[in-house]
Amino acid sequence: MDCLFCRIVAGEIPARTFYEDDRVLAFHDTGPQAPVHFLVIPRRHIASLDQLTEDDRDLAGHILYTAQRLATEQGCEAGFRLVMNCKELGGQTVHHIHMHVLGQRQLHWPPG
Ligand code: AMP
Ligand code: ZN
Repeated sequence: MDCLFCRIVAGEIPARTFYEDDRVLAFHDTGPQAPVHFLVIPRRHIASLDQLTEDDRDLAGHILYTAQRLATEQGCEAGFRLVMNCKELGGQTVHHIHMHVLGQRQLHWPPG
């Protein structure tokens, strides 16, 4: 298994995981870009966002729902940002889909 996030799911690599259920995991990003910065990932390996199929629609909704709920729990009532980078031009570096949740600082637009 050469996927970093599959190895976190399997417990082979430690992570600061603070939420998990049957479909997703949430853990703090090791290179935080904001005071709150965590990732929500599916347990199942999906390499990039454009690999989602129709059968993944519930999972995609669950990732979005979980991200916003945990954002609020982590103290981002004043606002937050969700980001999913897709492939090279999208800035994706870990090839197992993940939603970034960023909060507790003023975020700017455009993101660059
Ligand atoms: P992306 O560039 O969208 O693929 O984001 C990958 C994210 O994973 C980056 O924000 C990294 O800081 C983060 N990251 C890399 N390795 C780990 C790790 N072992 N535990 C938690 N976050 C990680
Ligand atoms: Zn994976």
